[in-house]
Amino acid sequence: MQALQLTEFKHPPELREVDDPTPGPGEVLVRVGGAGACHSDLHMLHDFEPGTVPFETPFTIGHENAGWVEALGAGVRGLEVGEPVAVYGPWGCGSCPRCRQGMENYCVRQAELPVAGGGLGTDGGMAPLLLVPSPRLLVPLHDLDPVDAAPLTDAGLTPYHAVKRSLDRLVPGSTAVVIGAGGLGHMAIQILEHLSAAQIVAVDTNPEALHLAQAVGARHALVPGPEAIAEIRALTGGVGADVVLDIVGVEETLALGAAVSRSLGHLTLVGIGGGSYPFGFFTVPYEVSLASTYWGSLPELIEVLALAEAGKVRAHVERYDLADAAQAYEDLAEGKVCGRAVVVP
Ligand code: NAD
Ligand code: ZN
Ligand code: ZN
Repeated sequence: MQALQLTEFKHPPELREVDDPTPGPGEVLVRVGGAGACHSDLHMLHDFEPGTVPFETPFTIGHENAGWVEALGAGVRGLEVGEPVAVYGPWGCGSCPRCRQGMENYCVRQAELPVAGGGLGTDGGMAPLLLVPSPRLLVPLHDLDPVDAAPLTDAGLTPYHAVKRSLDRLVPGSTAVVIGAGGLGHMAIQILEHLSAAQIVAVDTNPEALHLAQAVGARHALVPGPEAIAEIRALTGGVGADVVLDIVGVEETLALGAAVSRSLGHLTLVGIGGGSYPFGFFTVPYEVSLASTYWGSLPELIEVLALAEAGKVRAHVERYDLADAAQAYEDLAEGKVCGRAVVVP
């Protein structure tokens, strides 16, 4: 089969011919229905010097996947061939306390593992077939189309987790600011809309992203800069935002997030732009909590899928054939994707 592979770091991905995988004992083979192109792949492909990431190349990229069960390895029970499934993306050891709580994203043994998930050190979903190491990583889809479900496993799940941990801040009268209204951001807005009473403000440099942000529920859409800071102050009666999700993560967006946070607020860093912000007594208002979040838990994925099945959230999807998968990443890098690019092998 053809697969879009990372052959070496700091190198564009390549479509290559690889062997079809077969499931060993305990494994499940999934026929990929949709594989989302995440901006994190661009960071993985281009930002790291060879040797600084603990992954061995080559491997097939794509860590945001859904499809149908194609074949079951020996001993696998509880799944039917042909059943539609979403793939829970962070693959931990499966047996530490965090993994057993469904938080494989925070596996205690992650540092000892050579892979972080399909598409992250081992073969992912940018291919017709994906080998999943255990049925514990699959969630049944019921009525959702795998193309729509794929983005939910990361672009949906990651902001879902970030929003859920801050729900106690998002009471009536509160304000949530989403910086970066791309693949994750446009899902964050819908999740905020359906989980909270907050007024939602989107901030993005790209006018098309701001347009989508408003279409999916942002009450205000702003271009970053001093005027946006003043505007957010004005929209919050001078006090600032209760929750800021920085889904870009460069110096400027973190500084913007800090400038518009109110005391007791949450400033949550989701974007992997590589920026940092000095934390000190006088750098943020009193009792602002700064946190980074990585992906989400398996129970949270079940909740995101339920939200989508109820028609409350839906990824805005731009489809690409597998032959054009490399183009999807080029378009993503150039800011030409509105919502999420999903490769349909
Ligand atoms: P994306 O390219 O789809 O969206 C990024 C958006 O940010 C775009 O709309 C872009 O116009 C906007 N943007 C860029 N620079 C900006 C700036 N300076 N100010 C305001 N807006 C700006 O990317 P995505 O797939 O949604 O991923 C977003 C970020 O989240 C990436 O850094 C990605 O690596 C990261 N990510 C983190 C996790 C996690 O678990 N923490 C999971 C997935 C993705
Ligand atoms: Zn991702
Ligand atoms: Zn573990």
